[in-house]
Amino acid sequence: MKTTVKSLEGSRQGLFIDGAFVAPSSGLYVPSYDPTTAEPWYEFAQGDAADVDSAVRSAKAAFVNPAWRRMTQTERGKLVRRLGELVLENADELAMIECRDNGKLLKEMRAQMRAIPDSYLYFAGMADKLLGETIPVNKLDSLNFNLREPLGVIGMIIPWNSPMMMLTGTLAPCLAIGNTIVVKPSEHATASSLALAELAIEAGIPPGVINVVSGDGATTGEALTRHPGITKYVFTGSTFTGRKIAGNAAHNLVPCQMELGGKSPHVIFSDVDIDRAVNGVVSGVFAAAGQTCVAGSRCFVEQPIYNRFVEALVERTRRIKVGHPQVEVTDIGPIALASQLAKVEDYVGSGVREGAKVAIGGRKPQNGELARGWYFEPTVLVEARNDMRFMREEIFGPVVGIVPFKTEEEMIELANDTEYGLASGIWTKDIDRAMRFARNIDAGTVWINTYRSAAYMSANGGMKNSGYGRRGGFEVMREFSRLKNVLIDYSGAMQDPFVIRLR
Ligand code: NAD
Repeated sequence: MKTTVKSLEGSRQGLFIDGAFVAPSSGLYVPSYDPTTAEPWYEFAQGDAADVDSAVRSAKAAFVNPAWRRMTQTERGKLVRRLGELVLENADELAMIECRDNGKLLKEMRAQMRAIPDSYLYFAGMADKLLGETIPVNKLDSLNFNLREPLGVIGMIIPWNSPMMMLTGTLAPCLAIGNTIVVKPSEHATASSLALAELAIEAGIPPGVINVVSGDGATTGEALTRHPGITKYVFTGSTFTGRKIAGNAAHNLVPCQMELGGKSPHVIFSDVDIDRAVNGVVSGVFAAAGQTCVAGSRCFVEQPIYNRFVEALVERTRRIKVGHPQVEVTDIGPIALASQLAKVEDYVGSGVREGAKVAIGGRKPQNGELARGWYFEPTVLVEARNDMRFMREEIFGPVVGIVPFKTEEEMIELANDTEYGLASGIWTKDIDRAMRFARNIDAGTVWINTYRSAAYMSANGGMKNSGYGRRGGFEVMREFSRLKNVLIDYSGAMQDPFVIRLR
């Protein structure tokens, strides 16, 4: 892999089209900021409609190129597996790239880059298991069957919070199926997608199968979602942007998979070990500085343990170390963007104005190095209500609001009283209650006595304004392939079409 932190530092990185880095047609480059210093560290290319067009053309040509189209599934599977192996071989470098680009913890990224190859391996194994089916039709001497085929060119638009993981979730199955891809990474974290496209060439995946057009949403993203050459979009990002993309795609009658925002409920009953549940809440909303779509940012606690729970949560939060993402003992790094930090500050302010109290956190760290970067203290807001603005809108930061509840019915009503439906969590030893929750909650994922424990083998996705479509498991293979029905008549005869026989 030629793309490294060293090669990027102070450099200009082009677009990745047809297997090579190319300059953007506009000649424009945009700085990418290091969130620990708020300083630019390299420049990425601003792709425009002409660049998007050449990337889509390259992907279309690769789709029909016999080097890809006529490759056996087994061979394709091997290439997907090889790409995963290369991610592993370059794990530390990729981890550092991600860390510099969006401030994710280096230790977390090192672990993530070592886990991601398993996902490539999993989907590589599915390349030759995408079965069709035979259908027993009411016609003699005939064979009716469904074929599963690749869709074509997939447009992937991803966010900044976990680019490599978000990309892998659909890139690996799309490759295994035989699709080709145009990726539009976030303008706030572009480098890892470019590095991955470069690794794909090293893995032996033909040029043009993966193309990366960097740039902002308004220019590059819009151009991609208006391009008539795309067969399906997968979008991971905010609900606001999702609506625009789905609108553009609808114009071209192109389907989408939408992985959008959330405002996930995290419910604690009194029969649980408080420390364990506190760790669950901390992991659910403070890990990754709360910059996760599944963040359990609305916490409902059964009345009898409310005070004890808040006390334990505040105590645990006090021990969280906010710091530089490359330092081993750091628990929470910076917020990835200045605008995102301002948003977090604004939500905390609005919560306080509406009557919530800051039990801990609530501001930027004031000391030296941390004051310079885009850091924010993990924040617990008590005396919160579900109708406060910070409890209704996605914050995407380390902020949780705590609300007491008395009955299970009241809790379900509160938990479902949101426009979102991405994830949910419940802590209880009562399996009947846990199962009632699993049945009654409007969320694509339900965690019982754990939180933020994702697996690429299971299908995940949203309900309501959190989106539609599923990623993970075999479900994603169905989402990115198409069905074609074939009927063979082997009777050796063809009925006169104008002779109608009544049964
Ligand atoms: P965003 O919606 O601002 O941007 C996401 C991507 O869309 C970026 O690449 C951006 O450039 C692009 N974009 C913006 N405007 C566009 C337009 N008009 N046309 C085409 N593309 C456009 O989101 P973000 O701030 O990068 O990421 C945070 C959001 O992502 C949160 O809402 C979070 O919940 C969500 N998210 C969801 C999941 C999930 O699996 N459901 C996972 C991670 C993040």
